[in-house]
Amino acid sequence: MDESQQKLLMRLPKMDALLASKEAALLLDTYSRTLVKRAVQEEIETLRANIFHPTADTLEPIVHWDSIRARLESYLAPSLRRVINGTGIILHTNLGRAPLANSALQAIHDTASGYSNLELNLESGKRGSRYDHVESILKELTGAEAALVVNNNAAAVMLAVNTLAKDGEVVTSRGELIEIGGSFRIPEVVERSEADLVEVGTTNKTRVGDFRNALSDKTRMLLKVHPSNFKVVGFTEEASREELVALAKEKNILMVEDLGSGSLIDLSNYGLPGEPTVSQVIKSGVDIVTFSGDKLLGGPQAGLILGRADLLDTMKRNPLLRALRMDKLTLAALESTLRLYLNEDTLTQTVPILFMLSTDIEDIQRLAEQLVSELKSLSGITATIVEDNAYSGGGALPDETLPSCAVALHSENFSPDALAEALRTGDPAVVGRISDGSFLLNARTLFQQDLPLIVERLRQLHP
Ligand SMILES: *Cc1c(COP(=O)(O)O)cnc(C)c1O
Repeated sequence: MDESQQKLLMRLPKMDALLASKEAALLLDTYSRTLVKRAVQEEIETLRANIFHPTADTLEPIVHWDSIRARLESYLAPSLRRVINGTGIILHTNLGRAPLANSALQAIHDTASGYSNLELNLESGKRGSRYDHVESILKELTGAEAALVVNNNAAAVMLAVNTLAKDGEVVTSRGELIEIGGSFRIPEVVERSEADLVEVGTTNKTRVGDFRNALSDKTRMLLKVHPSNFKVVGFTEEASREELVALAKEKNILMVEDLGSGSLIDLSNYGLPGEPTVSQVIKSGVDIVTFSGDKLLGGPQAGLILGRADLLDTMKRNPLLRALRMDKLTLAALESTLRLYLNEDTLTQTVPILFMLSTDIEDIQRLAEQLVSELKSLSGITATIVEDNAYSGGGALPDETLPSCAVALHSENFSPDALAEALRTGDPAVVGRISDGSFLLNARTLFQQDLPLIVERLRQLHP
């Protein structure tokens, strides 16, 4: 430490003096003494650190009350917050997958702001089951004999395998031993469910004969898994659902299918590639199907399990269910989302992800043009419309692109990377991507009500 540093250290303001100042008094009107002390302490530490890493303008230890106020605001600001999705990926796992329908939000509010009949049968006055609130509607929508819901699809697969194949063998094609982002790996899930996995076939070819040859007296289940975010192309073959159902029946074992996204409606009606619907899969004779609540269904994070009533009764008695159970907020949102499916004609208006998947390119272009025109009043930023693709994401329809367009932003104040960072770290956060040296906001995943917020964020960045 040299002499000038020594002198500067002596001039560091003292906590007691700062807390007694009129600036501190203003802050103490809003924030607790503990928090103000913490923010002031951090400011003093910063000033002290600056003395040892001097840059031209920080030699004198001057207290910045603005930065103390900013610290206080940041302590109280939520960590989990709203993001405007300009990525063009509709079911973006990192951005929370499906935005909820208005009625689902209302249902959460109505049932969770007070008490609810979560486990009380209001007719009999006796104890009820939380699962009753969604079972009959799921049966109606899919034709399944019975239904159960858990925390997510990973939990659904785990509960099914653990209940129905514990200490036995589960046979799966090597072409379906997938990993879904965030550590869901079929072999590990089966192992943790206390069953032995028997892999059959090869990555690109598995025939029903491979399954037949792998059967033993320990085989309990054939497990078919939707490959989701991955696709084998070229020289391929897979055992069909119908063949596996027939084999399972012949050998008196179970056929379980993890559908991943699982759609309740025929997406080909909306110009999207037709995946079999959940009711078609049930009808084909699969004993149990599982899928996520927050992928193509467009609801909250959930795992849905549908199929034979006797098997679901056994699952309901598995103690594991208690650890995997769905909470009341999710249940309220899920029930409400499912009820929207009773009116199929309005689904693209009521379920946000179905709206985004089905919107015409002309409407998306109109939204992009509106954003561009509202940005005209800002100086220092130019916006143009470029062609771009969107994706459904979430492991659904992985190689299918949806026509879209993006607003390309060029700023006089920021490089594309710096603009991306500034938008991402503000409130609300705006997330886009950089392509060919431009920062892009894909319009298919923007809501109408996002536009004024984007304009306002850009205005703040271009004063
Ligand atoms: C997404 C997916 C899962 C995991 O579902 P979560 O609801 O995220 O737990 C499991 N299996 C398949 C095939 C999937 O696509």
